[in-house]
Amino acid sequence: MALDDILARIRAEEARVGRAAGSVRLVAVSKVQPLKRVEAVLEAGHRLFGENKVQEAAGKWPAFRDRYDGIVLHLVGPLQTNKARQAMELFDCIETLDRPKLARTLARLRDETGQCPPLFVQVNTGEEPQKAGVMPGDADGFIAECRALGLPVVGCMCIPPVREEPALHFALLAKIAARNGLKELSMGMSADFETAIAQGATYVRVGSGVFGERIYS
Ligand SMILES: *Cc1c(COP(=O)(O)O)cnc(C)c1O
Repeated sequence: MALDDILARIRAEEARVGRAAGSVRLVAVSKVQPLKRVEAVLEAGHRLFGENKVQEAAGKWPAFRDRYDGIVLHLVGPLQTNKARQAMELFDCIETLDRPKLARTLARLRDETGQCPPLFVQVNTGEEPQKAGVMPGDADGFIAECRALGLPVVGCMCIPPVREEPALHFALLAKIAARNGLKELSMGMSADFETAIAQGATYVRVGSGVFGERIYS
């Protein structure tokens, strides 16, 4: 199945650029995909998935968790503060921490529940007005702010502009993470995950490459 092909390409690129085997993990982004396709990937043994909407994830993942052990679910889409509580319950990792108000909300909920999943700071490397993420120039300050709140920030995440060379954006993200002592880098999608691996990605987020084209109704 396509999953095997993507995993083989990840392993091949790790080897080609001298990264340790298994140092890059595949987040299979299952948004919008028919449940049958997701189930096939679960049956094949894959356990790490990504969703971009809290509501959509709430509608399908609790049932899958009842049936399959060891599922790890990442939120890869924008998070509204009024859905933060639900997101913290549903997801094992939130990749899209991108503003002070959300950081304060997560810290308050962490104080209340005693728990917080690992977090990635999303950086808007292309400085696109319509896109989420902190501006590159604000990233160091924002990461420091999150740390001052005691939030478990483990890495950085980006979605490069569609029409630009992704390698430059991946390199910028890697630089921001490194100078802030963050180990994890979530970058690279179906079209450019090998480029991201060469630039140091530890997580690649692949949707259509794993499940087939998304069918929007
Ligand atoms: C949909 C999505 C992906 C996967 O995109 P593909 O091009 O289908 O691989 C990755 N990251 C995020 C944030 C997404 O929303």
